[in-house]
Amino acid sequence: MNQKLIKEFEELLGKNRVLSEAEELLCYSYDATSKEFMPDVVVFPLNSNEISNIVKLCLKYNTPVVGRGSGSGFSGGSLPLKGGVVVSFTKMNHILEIDEENMFVTVEPGVINADLKSYLAEKGYFYPPDPASYEFSTIGGNVAECSGGPSAVKYGVTKDYVAALELITGDGEIINTGSKSVKDVSGYNLTQLMVGSEGTLGLFSKITLKFLSNPEANSLILVSFDDIGNGFNAAISLLKLRNRPSMLEFMDKSSIESVKSYFKSDIIKIEGAFLFIIEADGSRLEVGESVAEYEKILKEFSPVFLFSSGSEEEKRVIMEARKAISPSLRKYGDLKINNDIAVPINKIIEMLSFIEGISKTYNVPIINFGHFGDGNIHVNIMLNKDDADMVKRGEKAKFEILKKTAEAGGSLSGEHGIGLEKKEFMKLKYNDYYMNILKNIKKVFDPRNIINPGKIF
Ligand SMILES: Cc1cc2nc3c(=O)[nH]c(=O)nc-3n(C[C@H](O)[C@H](O)[C@H](O)COP(=O)(O)OP(=O)(O)OC[C@H]3O[C@@H](n4cnc5c(N)ncnc54)[C@H](O)[C@@H]3O)c2cc1C
Repeated sequence: MNQKLIKEFEELLGKNRVLSEAEELLCYSYDATSKEFMPDVVVFPLNSNEISNIVKLCLKYNTPVVGRGSGSGFSGGSLPLKGGVVVSFTKMNHILEIDEENMFVTVEPGVINADLKSYLAEKGYFYPPDPASYEFSTIGGNVAECSGGPSAVKYGVTKDYVAALELITGDGEIINTGSKSVKDVSGYNLTQLMVGSEGTLGLFSKITLKFLSNPEANSLILVSFDDIGNGFNAAISLLKLRNRPSMLEFMDKSSIESVKSYFKSDIIKIEGAFLFIIEADGSRLEVGESVAEYEKILKEFSPVFLFSSGSEEEKRVIMEARKAISPSLRKYGDLKINNDIAVPINKIIEMLSFIEGISKTYNVPIINFGHFGDGNIHVNIMLNKDDADMVKRGEKAKFEILKKTAEAGGSLSGEHGIGLEKKEFMKLKYNDYYMNILKNIKKVFDPRNIINPGKIF
C-alpha cells in the first residue's frame, strides 16, 4: 500500500482510526465464507463527511474501497478482493433519531440489528427483519444484503422497512434518497435500488427505517407430516388465511433426521418427512383465534405430530430445535456449501425432490430447511474438505441446483446475495443484455469502479 495514502488517512482520521499492521488487518480479511483477502488498510469513519473524504482519497490513489459491518456475510461481500481500503462502520453505531409520530427511526449503519430491536421494544415498538445473525450483524450490512429471516412470511424483509438513505457514491459525493413520506413516486426509486446492492453502489452513512407496534403475544405450533404432499397443502392453506403465520419454517426429512440425532427433548418430537414450526402473533385474542384456526386446518391433513406451545419454556425448546439444525450438520462433513435459493412456493416440492436426486447422483449428503412461506430453501451440501473428489462432486451438485432454480423461475439467492460466491452463476439466470444494464447502473454511481470491485459480476 502506498505509504502516502496511509499518512493522508492518519491526518484525516487520526492514527487511532487507521489500521495498517498485518496482524490488525487479518481480522478484516474474512467473513462467513471460507475465503480470505487481506486489505491494505482499515479505516473507521465517524460521519458522512469523513466517508466522503475517504472515498475522495481512494479516487486520488486509485484504490478500491470496501464497506464492512460485522463481516458475517455469506457471499464474500465485505472481502477486499482486490486489496485496498476497508471502511469499518463499527464506530458509526448510534441511533440518531426516533420519530414516534411518523414511526421512523434513523440510525448509523453500524448499529447492530438486535440493539435496534431492543431499543424499539422498550418503547413498545417492533423492527421485524430478523436474520439469524441479528445479534451481531449491522443494519448497514442488512440493508446492503436485503437480509431477512423467519418473520418475512408475514412482515417482509429489510427492503420493506428502508424509507430513506444517506450515502456516499463512488465520486465521493453525499446524496440523500427517499423520504419519510408514505407515498413517494418522485423519479426513480433509488432507495430500493440501494437495498440489496451488496455494497457496490455506495457507502451508507444514515439509514431511516420504518417500524411497527409490538405484537402483544405469540404462540408456536410444531407439526409434522409423513406425506410431504399433505404437509405442502397444509402450509399453503395457512398462507391463504387473513391472519397468516408470522413464521412458517420447514425442515425436510434429511434435516429432521439430522436434528433428531443431535437434539433430545422430552417436550417435543422431531419426526416425519416434513416438519413445520409455525408462529401466530398479534393481540392475545388474535393469537388464541389463530392457533385454534391453524390447528383445525393442520388436523385435516393427517399430521403425525402436532404440538402447540403453552409456555415460554416450550417455545424456547421449539426454537432451540430450529437452531440445532446447523450444528447438527457437522457430523456430515467439515465443509458446507450453503445455498440460499428461493423459488415460487408451488415449486418447493419439485425442488426438494430434484435436490434428493442430485444428492444421490453426486453421492453427497444434502440437507434442506428454511422459510417455506418465502420459498427460501437453505440447501446445505455437506463435504469433507480433504476429499478433493467429493468437493468436486459438491461443486457440480451446486451448479445443477442453481441451474434448476433458475429454470423454476427462482432466485439464485433469497438472502445472502451474490457477492463472490455466486457471480459465475449469474449467467444461468440473466443474459448479457441484462448483465450490461447492471454494469451500467454501477458505472453511474461508481464511474471509476472503486467501490467493492469484483462483486456480483
Ligand atoms: C450464523 C449466521 C446466520 C446468518 N443468518 C442469516 C439469515 O437468517 N438471513 C440473512 O439474510 N442473512 C443471514 N446471514 C448473513 C449475514 O449475517 C447478513 O448478510 C448480514 O446482513 C450481514 O451483515 P454484516 O453487518 O455482517 O455485513 P458484512 O458481512 O460486513 O457486509 C455485507 C455487505 O454489506 C456491505 N456493507 C456493510 N456496511 C455497509 C454500509 N454502511 N454501506 C454500504 N455497504 C455496506 C459490505 O460491503 C458487504 O457487501 C447469516 C450469517 C451468519 C454468520
